[in-house]
Amino acid sequence: MTLMMTVSGVRGIIGQTMTPTLAAELGMAYGTHLGGGGVVIGRDSRPSGHLLSRALSSGLVASGCHVIDLGIVSTPGVAVMVQERQAAGGVVITASHNPREWNGVKFLTGGGYAPPPEDAARILDRYRRRDFHLADVDHLGRIEKDDSTHSRHVQRILRLLDVAPIRRHPLTVVLDSVNGAGGLGGHLLLEKLGCQVIHLNAEANGQFAHPPEPTEDNLTGLCDFVQKHEAEVGFAQDPDADRLAIVDDRGRYIGEEYTLALAAKYMFARQPGPAAANLSTSRMIDDLAAAAGGLPVHRTPVGEAHVARAMREHGCVIGGEGNGGVIDPRVSFVRDSFVAMGMVLNILAGEDRPLSAIVDDLPRYVMIKRKFSMAPEQIAAWLRRVPNAAGGGRLNTADGVRIDWPEGWVHVRGSNTEPIARVIAEAADAATAQSLVERVTALRE
Ligand code: MG
Repeated sequence: MTLMMTVSGVRGIIGQTMTPTLAAELGMAYGTHLGGGGVVIGRDSRPSGHLLSRALSSGLVASGCHVIDLGIVSTPGVAVMVQERQAAGGVVITASHNPREWNGVKFLTGGGYAPPPEDAARILDRYRRRDFHLADVDHLGRIEKDDSTHSRHVQRILRLLDVAPIRRHPLTVVLDSVNGAGGLGGHLLLEKLGCQVIHLNAEANGQFAHPPEPTEDNLTGLCDFVQKHEAEVGFAQDPDADRLAIVDDRGRYIGEEYTLALAAKYMFARQPGPAAANLSTSRMIDDLAAAAGGLPVHRTPVGEAHVARAMREHGCVIGGEGNGGVIDPRVSFVRDSFVAMGMVLNILAGEDRPLSAIVDDLPRYVMIKRKFSMAPEQIAAWLRRVPNAAGGGRLNTADGVRIDWPEGWVHVRGSNTEPIARVIAEAADAATAQSLVERVTALRE
């Protein structure tokens, strides 16, 4: 049955594998792991969120933790509140961009970031062994509510932006929150920045108005609205509002890769420093870092925890993943659609030209993604052969194999959650990208 239990979190289908029993036991496992203390808990807008939140809270209270219930909030909002409340940890109830029948559980450390894989594995191992330490009646935890997440999160972002220039150039912005958890905070942020907001799917009711992953096919409505209202920009959040996709002033979906590229452009101009991105992320960030004076870009395995760890280790000023996930360490070490919106608006206010022109000035690449159903041992055998395609290219084997050549790169890796291999190639034109894909797929058997 469909239960995905990985170091990135636990996901299942309501009524089948994602049950209150599982949530309560995950709560006991995490509470035992923490050994008490405060734990903030937030959920996205899925209809099942409240039942899982209550069950998980019971598990935490039973193991002696003090639960701070944030209600329906974004994933980056929970990360901010771990810090604000100086909690020992955090829990997010979300299945991110999965359809509404799914739900899941993600843990955050006391630093407000995804636990490193070895810590996440320890928590899951404790759950599997049923190694719970439950409190006696005199040491049970308590539950309190805290509804300050949106305002604290937005305040934190406003302090980092050049707010005055944005307010001086009132921008028309279309925001699609897909009826997820990002609507309230998103609206508050844009309003504080003086934007004219046309807000689509703003109700946090979990009735996703379109398939919730912020991809081009799913956002045609947003593109139409941007054109119809002659807006300067369109933003789309995923249900837990850690990812952001952008539509330019011409109503063109510019692709999630550009979210991190624009954020990097913003940070490199203001606070030049190292960056981090996963191995499947576009080379645009390397070009921007080179143009900003040869700043280092640290490449990491796919997954937010890896990017966040590299950012902490190398003192990165910006980081993220090519799926629209931007991490600004001044806010938290979690991907954050709100801070990404603020940066894009800051760029627009600072440059007297439309977003389409700004995007056209960025390096342009074509990315091709393929996937192959394969058994794990077949994938492993393929990965052993992929370096043979390198020629003079630069190899990185931190997560599968990535090869970089001057004309482009290709990344082959096994999925963490399904028996499939993914191939991603990027080059200046489609024919070159396709030839890079073929160079590695020729070694498949
Ligand atoms: Mg998400």
